[in-house]
Amino acid sequence: MPNNVRSPVNNPPEEGLCESLLMELECPVCGEHMIPPITLCESGHNTCSRCKPKLKKCPTCRQQLLAIRNLTLENLTNKIKYPCRNHKTGCDELLPLDQIIQHQAVCLYRFYDCPLAKAPGVLCLWQGPWSEVKKHIDINHKDRVTEEISKLSVHIRDFKSTYKYCRVIYALGEVFYQQFEVIANNFYFVVQYVGPEDAAYRYKYEFTLSSTSGDEKIQVSQVTRSVKINIDEICQSGKCIKLHYDVVKNFLEENTMEFEMEISKARVEEKS
Ligand SMILES: [Zn+2]
Ligand SMILES: [Zn+2]
Ligand SMILES: [Zn+2]
Ligand SMILES: [Zn+2]
Repeated sequence: MPNNVRSPVNNPPEEGLCESLLMELECPVCGEHMIPPITLCESGHNTCSRCKPKLKKCPTCRQQLLAIRNLTLENLTNKIKYPCRNHKTGCDELLPLDQIIQHQAVCLYRFYDCPLAKAPGVLCLWQGPWSEVKKHIDINHKDRVTEEISKLSVHIRDFKSTYKYCRVIYALGEVFYQQFEVIANNFYFVVQYVGPEDAAYRYKYEFTLSSTSGDEKIQVSQVTRSVKINIDEICQSGKCIKLHYDVVKNFLEENTMEFEMEISKARVEEKS
C-alpha cells in the first residue's frame, strides 16, 4: 500500500499515539528506535538492546540496569510502524518491525564504507549513501579505477604473494570492487558489487589465467557478492574464486602474472 493512503486503522489520533510511542522508544545513546528485548533500569527507564552490552549504568539516571523486561512496551512495538533507520538521509519507508529489519538490510539509503577502505596504502574513512559512492571514488581514488571496461587483461610484473591487489572497476554502468591476494597458500580472487546484496546476483565475473602458449588455461566464473558482505566471510565460505597457489604459481613467468577478467550480466531470472 502506498504511504499516502490511510487505512481506517491508521486514522490521525492513532498516528499521534504512534508518534509518541516512537519518541518513547528513541534510545538516548544510539538515537535509533528500541526493538525487543527492552529491559528496565532500577528507576524504570527503558534500555536499548543494541546498546545494553556497552552500558554499565542507565544513560538517563545512572542507576543499575536490570534484566527485567518491559513486556507492555515490547507488545506495543508490534502495533506500530517503524521508520527506516536511514530516514534522516532520505528513506521514507514506514513498516512493521519484522519488515523494517528486512528492509534496512537492503535499503538504498544506508551508508556504505569507501570500497577501498581496506586497500593497502589507502586510509579512507569515508561513509555515505549508495548514490554518492561513485562521486567519492572519482574525486579521491581516480588512480585506483579501471573505467568502463568489462573485459580487461591484467599484466602484473613482479607479482608479490604477500601483497593485496585492490581496485575499483566501472562496468555495465555499475561500480565493482576487485581484490586478490594469497592467504595460507590459497589464491583468492573476489569481485564485489557496490550495491545491495539482492542486486549483486545479477552480475558474474570470469577469471582466466593462461600460459603464454595458451595450451594451459584455468577459467573460473563466480557470481558477485555485495560489498556489504565481509570479504573475509566470502573467502571463508568459498563464494569466490579460490585456487591453490601452487597451481597459480605455474602460470607465473619470471614472476609476471597475466590474467583476463570479465564482468558480465549473470543469466539469472529477474525476481518479480
Ligand atoms: Zn541504543
Ligand atoms: Zn534509569
Ligand atoms: Zn530505508
Ligand atoms: Zn575513499
